[in-house]
Amino acid sequence: MTEFRFARRSAILGKSVFDHAPGTIALNSGAAYPPCLPDVVREATEAVGPLREEAMQYAPLMGLDDLRDEICNFVAEDGIKANRENVLVTYGSKSAFDLALRTFCEPGDTVIVTRPTYMTAVHIMRTHNVRFLDIGQDEQGFDAEELARKLAIMENNAEQMPKLLFDVPDFHNPTGVTTSLARRKRMLELAQRYNFVICEDDPYRRIRFEGEVIPSIKSMDTTGHVISLGTVSKILAPGLRVGWAIGDAGVIRRMAMQKADGGSNAFAQRIVVQLMRSNKMAKHIDEMIHHMRIHRDEMIAAFAEHLPEAEIRAPQGGYFLWAKLPEESDAERLVELGIEEGVEISSGRLSFPNDDPGNFIRMAYSFIEVDDIKDGIAKLGVAWRKLQTQ
Ligand code: PMP
Repeated sequence: MTEFRFARRSAILGKSVFDHAPGTIALNSGAAYPPCLPDVVREATEAVGPLREEAMQYAPLMGLDDLRDEICNFVAEDGIKANRENVLVTYGSKSAFDLALRTFCEPGDTVIVTRPTYMTAVHIMRTHNVRFLDIGQDEQGFDAEELARKLAIMENNAEQMPKLLFDVPDFHNPTGVTTSLARRKRMLELAQRYNFVICEDDPYRRIRFEGEVIPSIKSMDTTGHVISLGTVSKILAPGLRVGWAIGDAGVIRRMAMQKADGGSNAFAQRIVVQLMRSNKMAKHIDEMIHHMRIHRDEMIAAFAEHLPEAEIRAPQGGYFLWAKLPEESDAERLVELGIEEGVEISSGRLSFPNDDPGNFIRMAYSFIEVDDIKDGIAKLGVAWRKLQTQ
């Protein structure tokens, strides 16, 4: 075998969504609910027909103008004021985040994240060889006061200050928590005071089951310190791979210069324009909310029945349920035993960029049928009882 000289990038790759043992109930995947996927796409594809040439050419690096305008309209509902020049279209919001890291961070720089944070974001950040300043999270969300204390100490010690903060303020992945308005304001204040950029990743914002809508951090940003990362993955279909970054026009241009993909997929962008212009997307979002609320309730009821020892907090939206097992429980071992019983969940390991407490698990209720949720958690309960006897 040839000994290749690979780059020193410390990434851990997750499994593919479709990579499950046959017959296994996949509670580890935040993929879209399949029954909600196909119809809207077929119709929208037909509507793209007359625009054959545009859809089959390279798209402009910044994205189709029509889509950038539609995205501005879409986020205006969240109180975000943006013009075309503030919008960069990307291959999903993950790639928008990657561009933000390329734009702001050198290897060895520090990025602020929650403890735990989105596991794929950790993967992306590791490919940039950044260090993590991890900040706690409680039922109010991001612990901005912990960050304030840590930043003050770093400044006092003349340490290199963080350049970027990554957070998912609405229905956080993995914890499901939503950050309060007061905390959001404090995060913004700190970004302005210490001059770092906030990447506000908000894929689940519209998938709200109950509770009051909280203004996005971007909607309160008057100084350009916030880059809002958006996507159609959760409100239409992840396979379209259409997302965006919204920010200060100068920042957005610099991010576009980091794009090495020749511009995002014109065909998919045109489909998204069609869907955003029709009432199809709004209808689709309502359907998703309807199904996901049922899925969440089913999963919470199943936990109460089969694994009452786990501490859970009902998320008010989004796709995920996060559970704390009693101290000293071995979540990694529970995942293995779960697979033996025919259910797949995720341990918290990949979500903690620094130290993994070892006793957290994440379940997604998005991908599977409601009956499988009940069965899946019942199987997890069996695995849990086996773990107690080991
Ligand atoms: N951010 C978070 C927090 C997510 O959970 C997901 C989906 N798993 C995404 C972004 C979606 O990324 P993309 O737009 O690249 O599909």
